[in-house]
Amino acid sequence: MDNDATLLLDLDGVSVHRVELLEDGRRRVHLTTADSSARACPACGVFATRSKGRALTRPRDLPYGERALEFFWHKRRWWCGEPACPRKSFTESLPQIPAGARITERLRAAAGRRVRDAGSTVIQAARDLHLSWSTVMASFTVQAREVTGAPLPEVRVLGIDETRRGRTEVGTGCRNREVATGA
Ligand SMILES: [Zn+2]
Repeated sequence: MDNDATLLLDLDGVSVHRVELLEDGRRRVHLTTADSSARACPACGVFATRSKGRALTRPRDLPYGERALEFFWHKRRWWCGEPACPRKSFTESLPQIPAGARITERLRAAAGRRVRDAGSTVIQAARDLHLSWSTVMASFTVQAREVTGAPLPEVRVLGIDETRRGRTEVGTGCRNREVATGA
């Protein structure tokens, strides 16, 4: 269901079913599953066809405007149809909202990027995004590894800045001493 609200939210795998305005001004967004891969069994990968009922997940997402949105993801439980699979049943899961996750992956990633790229402290990012210190720190650790673990770009042209020219003062001093001893 690609309605305007879904386009506005731009969260992969879910559709906006409706948006509810609560008395205190918060907006509650009811989400349904849009990506059929959410019903692939996490153990064997077979797509389930027999529903086991419904489940409700309330993941937190990035802030929108002045007030945060409240998510209600109405998802399904499924029976795995693969007889040999050790997993009998499971609830729907998406890369952006993994099973059991209390925040969306894009919120988690944004927290780490604030520290890595925007110079925020972990405490400040945690306050801004209403997350725990440990959540922000864990995200930052993962994102920092993307930088430090990335291979260095291949050197095509070695400029003059990268070479050392002449001898150092220490080297010169030694040579002079050797000359003096030999004389
Ligand atoms: Zn399975």
